[in-house]
Amino acid sequence: MNAPAEFARAVCPHDCPDTCALRVTVKDGKAVKVSGDPDHRPTQGVLCTKVTRYAERTHHKDRLLTPLRRVGRKGEGRFEPIGWDEALNIAAERLQSIARRAPEAILPYSYAGTMGLVQGESIAARLCNVLGASRLDRTICAAGLRYTYGASLGMNVEFFRESELILIWGANPIASSLHFWTLAQEAKRRGAKLIAIDPYKSLSAEKCHQHIALRPGTDAALALGMIHVLIAENLVDRAYIDAHTLGYDELAERASLYPPARVAQICGISADTVIELARAFGSTKKASIRLNYGMQRTRGGGNAVRAVACLASLTGAWRERSGGFCCRHRVGRRSTMQRSSVPICCPDGRRNFRA
Ligand code: SF4
Repeated sequence: MNAPAEFARAVCPHDCPDTCALRVTVKDGKAVKVSGDPDHRPTQGVLCTKVTRYAERTHHKDRLLTPLRRVGRKGEGRFEPIGWDEALNIAAERLQSIARRAPEAILPYSYAGTMGLVQGESIAARLCNVLGASRLDRTICAAGLRYTYGASLGMNVEFFRESELILIWGANPIASSLHFWTLAQEAKRRGAKLIAIDPYKSLSAEKCHQHIALRPGTDAALALGMIHVLIAENLVDRAYIDAHTLGYDELAERASLYPPARVAQICGISADTVIELARAFGSTKKASIRLNYGMQRTRGGGNAVRAVACLASLTGAWRERSGGFCCRHRVGRRSTMQRSSVPICCPDGRRNFRA
């Protein structure tokens, strides 16, 4: 007789801002179903399409279970299965032969993928240290925020439901931040305006009230153009700026070089769009920005993030728990959505606007 199913709790290991809580059905010692934990408030029992079929993929008959060695020319698609020992020996010998000649010729380019703390952050680094490989600065996701806010922090994702204006900037949350999208939809039902800023008309952009399709890599110009308008039309919160930020004068000087007409040319949008966007953000009390990682992976991307992050401080949007800025819903590889039931806003102290 089969043993009855058991349930285990887990956390999604993907490098994704949502950090969902999982409920795993285990039968005869095998994970047979993965679903969202209904008791975890942000997850609400719902997972994205990638992970909801996790168990099915893990046990799929077509899943690759042994290493394959290429036996034809590249692109020919001819491979033969080999054992793990042989595959590991081939890789080790190749790495060692390069390391003997010029260890820095090895560049460990990797990111987080399906990883936890051990796989994602420690073992590969140790191997590369032993080899003497080049070091890769793994900061492309969050360096801009650290320079601007002092840490990669943002508003509590749950408060987006109370926002009156949400700029979904360089993000496609239907595909990659499902739970934020649920909250944004709730805000929309309450009357909030959603504006997508993205060169690509994603499924999420289609469902927003407005889609601003700027040219790829021109986000910093748009943010500086908005800052230009906010300052020119006195839509900045001077009391907040004086109390909590550094470098306002330098930022204002830089933004003065980006009048809407110039920004329109750079971004491939109209000057009116820049002006109206700035006015909407500057005149809405509970205005928030949800950014994603893509913007940071272009030349100058870190500074683009910094310019966008400054917007919420300039208008004092941080005063409201449903105002501000958010790029990720967690810190590090740990789930913080549950723990962050108090708002994570800008840390106290003064922020650095300097580019
Ligand atoms: S939304 Fe993100 S955290 Fe949630 S299940 Fe999908 S990949 Fe994992």
